[in-house]
Amino acid sequence: MGNIKIQFYLCRNFVYILSSASATAGGFKIYLRFKHGAKMRRRIQTALFTVYCLWFTVSPAQVNSDSLISVYTMKMQKYLDKENNASDVFSFTKAGIEVYLPATDFSQKKLEYILFWNELNNFQQLFINNDTETMLKYCLEKADNPFHIFAGGIQFQRIFVPAIPPLPPKMLDHYFISLDPGHIAGDLETAKMEKKWVDIKNPPATLIEGELTFATALILKKKLEAHGATVMLTRDTANISAFGIDFVKWTDSLFIKAIDDAYARGDVSFEEKNYLLTKANNTEIFRRFFLLEDLRERARKINEFNPDLTLIIHYNVDETNTNWNKPTKKNYNMAFVGGSFTADEFDKPEARIEFLRLLLTDDIERSIEFSKYMMESLVEKTKVPAALDSNAVYLKDNCIKTDVSGVFCRNLTLTRKVKGIICYGESLYQDNINECKVLSKKEVKIGEMETSKRVEEIAEAYYQGIMNYVKSKTK
Ligand SMILES: [Zn+2]
Repeated sequence: MGNIKIQFYLCRNFVYILSSASATAGGFKIYLRFKHGAKMRRRIQTALFTVYCLWFTVSPAQVNSDSLISVYTMKMQKYLDKENNASDVFSFTKAGIEVYLPATDFSQKKLEYILFWNELNNFQQLFINNDTETMLKYCLEKADNPFHIFAGGIQFQRIFVPAIPPLPPKMLDHYFISLDPGHIAGDLETAKMEKKWVDIKNPPATLIEGELTFATALILKKKLEAHGATVMLTRDTANISAFGIDFVKWTDSLFIKAIDDAYARGDVSFEEKNYLLTKANNTEIFRRFFLLEDLRERARKINEFNPDLTLIIHYNVDETNTNWNKPTKKNYNMAFVGGSFTADEFDKPEARIEFLRLLLTDDIERSIEFSKYMMESLVEKTKVPAALDSNAVYLKDNCIKTDVSGVFCRNLTLTRKVKGIICYGESLYQDNINECKVLSKKEVKIGEMETSKRVEEIAEAYYQGIMNYVKSKTK
């Protein structure tokens, strides 16, 4: 016999209300779970009861589909649809957003699922506590039915409960921040495998990007924690991947299962799977498969941590400077947020779900706002300008520029997969004639590592950017 279950969870400043319903619902149960004291519990119970009454007495909202169609069409064009072909896959109708399997022959178009206009809120709330894989499963299960009648359907609500005491003594006391130090390498051998190093002959300078990002993250983590933030690093040891093991251990333990899963998801073809399993050497496995798996794991860890803010840390190079063994005069700062999908990126079911998340939540808008503070701080501290879309080929060809100087929509694994507010920072050009000199100095000790004052400045710039953003939110 079917039923409806409603559970409330208290976590940080939020109460999570989870309801699961089966198709033949005949009754319901309420569970209350609180870690806090009785006084807090009574206050929350009252709040929850009010919310509960509202939730179940309000019938599905009447929606104005015309205005939603125009809002989401505009947003799709503004941030997400690089080549004007998203409408082949996502069709906005009176009923809702119909998602089709990509097909070359349009008469053969096959409906995958529909998100009805009056259940957009369900979709947005569901995404708070579910990963892309689970969301895809729910959407495929529901197909052209509404969310609330499919068996085992789950709905989430997240309600803000004011912190007690209301004024925290430290500015970042309730902030959960994840930092992703880009790449893995902490030595030249791994950096060469990863193809992420700069080796300038004159002036002599060798830089490993994974080392610069890691040092930046360690310095920044300390600064943020001093102000009360809870900080998570996606990797916390040089040469160790987001899985917590190095590449060799990963090939021995996780590789075979990972490639089976990737094949089942449609991420690798049958031929690629066989090649990687039987013929590929270590460098090929590393570049063609392991690095992508590592990025998926970073996104998974960040989403599980459910941070308020995510900063992905990279140092850039001049893409026209072949092999990066001579210096360039160019030097820019830039930041990426999600969006700017191209036609071939709609081929994977997970990418279609992630496109919908970016379209239907305000993650892009909030990430642009956060990135604005980060860019302003980077430009001010480094005295290096924000990039224009004419400054690099990939900015013109792969990105959509936003209204904020130096901030671009770009469909990278992490800008697509990491939920919430993100800034994918690409500071400086490592191969710039001046930067390569100052970045390669070993002047500052951080943990076991030695790094440069320039890296310290970048960490300071990000720190100030985060503080300025948080200040703007607490005014
Ligand atoms: Zn990088």
